[in-house]
Amino acid sequence: MSETQIEWTDATWNPVAGCSVISAGCTNCYAMEMARRLEAMGIDKYAGLTRKSGKRTVWKGIVREDWSALDIPIRWKRPKKIFVNSMSDLFHEGVSDRFISEVWSVMKRTSHHHYQILTKRPERMAAFVRKHIKEIVPNVWLGTSIENAENAPRVVSLKTVPAAIRFISFEPLIGPVGAIDLAGIHWAIVGGESGRFARPIREEWIDEIYEQCASYNTAFFFKQWGTWGKDNKKRSKKANGRVYRGRIWNDMPRGLDTTGTGPNGSR
Ligand code: SF4
Repeated sequence: MSETQIEWTDATWNPVAGCSVISAGCTNCYAMEMARRLEAMGIDKYAGLTRKSGKRTVWKGIVREDWSALDIPIRWKRPKKIFVNSMSDLFHEGVSDRFISEVWSVMKRTSHHHYQILTKRPERMAAFVRKHIKEIVPNVWLGTSIENAENAPRVVSLKTVPAAIRFISFEPLIGPVGAIDLAGIHWAIVGGESGRFARPIREEWIDEIYEQCASYNTAFFFKQWGTWGKDNKKRSKKANGRVYRGRIWNDMPRGLDTTGTGPNGSR
């Protein structure tokens, strides 16, 4: 798997398959349904990872390291922003330190790419990096997902990780996050949930994050409204679009910006 419709990256790289739900943001994880479809298409890597639960597809908790996928980014000669493990969580307890070290080694060897690692297990990420990574690899971005105030403490672990770029994905934003210390956080992505079971997003929750990004000089990327629009009405993700405060927000971490002025005023 490589090309993607995810707005903030160019490609996905999935050296791990399978995961397990860890918090409320995982409830409608698109990777569960995608894994089921890939299994139905006969792709062995995703076989047996999910089961049906009522109308939903859910993970069984099996995690598979795909050693054969490790060299994929080495074969990509043109530079890309690469989202690592869109179908899993690299820091799931089922992934060995040895395997994560191999992933790091590939990222270090392919410095023409930028790697975006997003986890809901930042405590393990912080412990792993401190123990095994001797120097910051400049093209590796480390991030965590925060979907509501309950999970906002994940930022504390993220901030302890030595990294060139630290980022937070506030997606799916399913509740207010509240006051959050974004010092040392270079980039924030915000988005609503999409799909059949999507939960609503409120504009005031986005405002709260936007304003804090502005005061901490954190680049702001608004990914999507999702299935619920700003008027709190349900329609397609496409119809709801990506406009917030009258414009599209595609800001990237400083030095990598592709669009105009963000709330951090850095351009
Ligand atoms: S951690 Fe990510 S991949 Fe794993 S269940 Fe949650 S949303 Fe899905």
